[in-house]
Amino acid sequence: MNKKSESIRSKSLTRASRSILSRHLWAQILVGLVSGVCLGYSLSPHGYALVDWEVAFSIGEWLSLPGIIFLGLIQMVIIPLVICSIILGIVETASIDFLRRMGLRVIVYFILTTTISILIGVCLVNIIKPGLHIDTGVIKAALESDAAASRINIDDFDEMKEAVDNLTVPQRVANVIPANLARASLDKNMLQIVVASVLIGIAMLTMSPTHQKPLRDLCVSGQVITMQIISWAMRLAPYAVFGLLANITIKLGPEAFAGVGLYMLTVLLGLACMVFVYLFIVVLVSQRMPLEFLRSIREVQLLAFSTSSSASTMPFSIKAAEENLNIRPDISRLVIPLGATVNMDGTAMYQVVAALFLCQIFGIELGSYDLTLLIVTTVGASIGTPGTPGVGIVVLASILSGIGVPPEGTALILGVDRILDMCRTTVNVTGDLTATTVMQRWLPEDK
Ligand code: ASP
Repeated sequence: MNKKSESIRSKSLTRASRSILSRHLWAQILVGLVSGVCLGYSLSPHGYALVDWEVAFSIGEWLSLPGIIFLGLIQMVIIPLVICSIILGIVETASIDFLRRMGLRVIVYFILTTTISILIGVCLVNIIKPGLHIDTGVIKAALESDAAASRINIDDFDEMKEAVDNLTVPQRVANVIPANLARASLDKNMLQIVVASVLIGIAMLTMSPTHQKPLRDLCVSGQVITMQIISWAMRLAPYAVFGLLANITIKLGPEAFAGVGLYMLTVLLGLACMVFVYLFIVVLVSQRMPLEFLRSIREVQLLAFSTSSSASTMPFSIKAAEENLNIRPDISRLVIPLGATVNMDGTAMYQVVAALFLCQIFGIELGSYDLTLLIVTTVGASIGTPGTPGVGIVVLASILSGIGVPPEGTALILGVDRILDMCRTTVNVTGDLTATTVMQRWLPEDK
């Protein structure tokens, strides 16, 4: 990597991460979260109803404005950020042979940990049975709520569902290759974007440095610019969380949270178990102390918690891996960008718990064949979930249609989705960092 552009990139990342972390963003976010729910409850017609419902709904809409801008900014930069980071990650490994050895192991490792996460989720739902403790009145209220339905991006869901449902298995496999890059970006098909970026990166490895240079420089600029925009968006994060939660509490009332407490607990417990699995892997494979590992990645976890986006946390994860965990750049710069888009253990756990929770509510019994199918679908769905805020629930809707749960069921868990999104993103990012320590151990330096 050209030293000058490397130092520009590193400086801009340091500046962005300092500006984000120095303001104790995570604490501001927590305050936003609690005060958003309190204000929403005071204004909601289902709560203290301090104002007329029409006024409350319009206040809610205005309050959610920073949240909509925040989500828009993050979504705006995700695709260029992912493309630039994956291409740079591959070009910086500088060896096709290394890439070949690493690629297979990374993919096997990602699928393995995602499956472990899903199995933990399945066990917990079957032990806790959160869906059997929910009041049917709450189900009706949530399902009848137009507000709930409109907060899920139904257009996104319909497009995704249609795209997935109408394909045969060979078509689905072939679909991984993006025949049309513009379409892949329009559809936010992250798997296709990842595949295209990997292919471009590998093609660049076969070229002379002179021919590589223009695109490489463009990718460095792209990464720095997108990070700058993300750090601006982050300033809005506490207001975004405050407004979005106030708005949803105004519209759904305390029911948004009441019936789903056990479900939340199941997801949170599952995520905590997954963190223990990571710590176990770290101790076993890299002989690091668990607390030391957690301390080294604490800031990145807080960023993931604050942004609810593994993709926008990715450059900071790379930095933490290299500087705090002493991971070799050839590993961190490949594993983390890939992981941020395809390795979503927290999301997979959440999706399977949510799917089984809704099955329990709607009285759908899954046989072992259906359960296996659900597990395989969830592995695939989590791989295809982009690392952006709130998309786990949109992709969940396509899993639900496969097992016969009405997708509107997602309205039930929508109220608590933001909080769970923050937590599952933290686990997703922890999983990527754990993967770098494993790969460092599995792939001794030989270049
Ligand atoms: N927000 C998650 C992430 O960026 C994805 C999800 O919605 O589950 O990792």
